[in-house]
Amino acid sequence: EAAGAPMRLTVLGASGSIGRSTLDLVERYPERFEVQALTANTSAEALADAAVRVGARLAVVADPAAYGALKAALAGSGIEAAAGAEAVVAAAERPADMLVAAIVGAAGLAPTLAAVRAGTTIALANKECLVCGGDLFMQAARSAGTTILPVDSEHNALFQVFEAGNVGQVERLTLTASGGPFRSLSLEEMRHVTPEAALRHPNWSMGARISIDSATMMNKGFEVIEARHLFPVRPDQLDVLVHPQSVVHGMVQYRDGSVLAQLGSPDMRTPISHCLAWPRRMRTPAQRLDLAALGTLTFEAPDPIRFPALRLAREAMATGTAATAALNAADEVLVEAFLNRRIGFLQIAETVEAVLETMARNGELTAPGSVDEVLQVDALAREAARDLAGLTG
Ligand code: NAD
Ligand code: MG
Repeated sequence: EAAGAPMRLTVLGASGSIGRSTLDLVERYPERFEVQALTANTSAEALADAAVRVGARLAVVADPAAYGALKAALAGSGIEAAAGAEAVVAAAERPADMLVAAIVGAAGLAPTLAAVRAGTTIALANKECLVCGGDLFMQAARSAGTTILPVDSEHNALFQVFEAGNVGQVERLTLTASGGPFRSLSLEEMRHVTPEAALRHPNWSMGARISIDSATMMNKGFEVIEARHLFPVRPDQLDVLVHPQSVVHGMVQYRDGSVLAQLGSPDMRTPISHCLAWPRRMRTPAQRLDLAALGTLTFEAPDPIRFPALRLAREAMATGTAATAALNAADEVLVEAFLNRRIGFLQIAETVEAVLETMARNGELTAPGSVDEVLQVDALAREAARDLAGLTG
């Protein structure tokens, strides 16, 4: 199926949900890819296994404490091992044709930005790069002439539909949302939900953080911000529509009233493969849609009372990149606190809102001019979130 030389590929966050789906495709078509580097946070054994399977040249763990285990697991394989946040950045800077950015959270910003500056085409799953880095990230891509391909299923859908249409004539973009596991719970019921229930996403199998963000719909808020940076539209042209079946992933409405949509089974290997093979397409094992068997697709407006995160994201987007960086940082802290049973589910969005109000009042939301300034805002927001949620001490 492949034509020409193999693609040199690096995967950041190779041990995660997106990373594993990416490597699943790589293993199906080994002749198409030449894997340069794989990175993970702490899972040394899983990373080493994957590196051996796909024949990577380098494997890196971000956590220095995992270096010994990685080195041991790679003994005799001829695969280079490294550890530490700087080694992840160095891996991202290695010459490659494409880098799959699949680290979770703000931790992905520095290494992904390094690859952007190196001119490597980015298959972007790590939406926090845009939520935290926003203008900075896109500016860096423009100056280096780097192509950013969206992996996030909704944005990948919009990108596919854009390819078929005329970008200048777009009226409205719609991101669909499953509504998560609590779509039909009352506010009172949502107050008492457990981490286990929140992690049980109805359609997608994903990492813990994005699963909780799907349950609060903060994920959709991040995706609105992500879309704002990826596509040439105004915030008021971005719509969210709840669609519990997750079959229609995104829609573009043109000025003649036509709406074009991308459909597919909820399997991230489809959007990942679209990036890997772009501008062509590759075969994937994703289950084929059987609309007759499905019978019904339903749509509803998101409820702003039970899912305030969407409003918070829009407000932060209107304020600017410092606010969206703070939104993400506070959410990272609060999602972890919820997973550790230190706060309730509704406290996630409540505290995020309080963090943004406090930081606005303190004049701490001025536009960051560098990654260091983003990380300063990020640190302030984490501190405020811990403080306001009573997580200190
Ligand atoms: P995950 O938790 O399954 O995997 C995260 C990966 O990042 C792991 O490899 C982990 O080792 C690595 N990592 C975590 N902290 C790190 C750190 N401090 N430094 C270096 N590496 C670190 O997450 P996921 O579900 O695969 O999501 C990854 C990204 O893709 C997220 O930004 C998420 O929002 C986005 N995304 C995921 C899906 C999905 O279906 N899972 C869909 C759309 C977008
Ligand atoms: Mg998505």
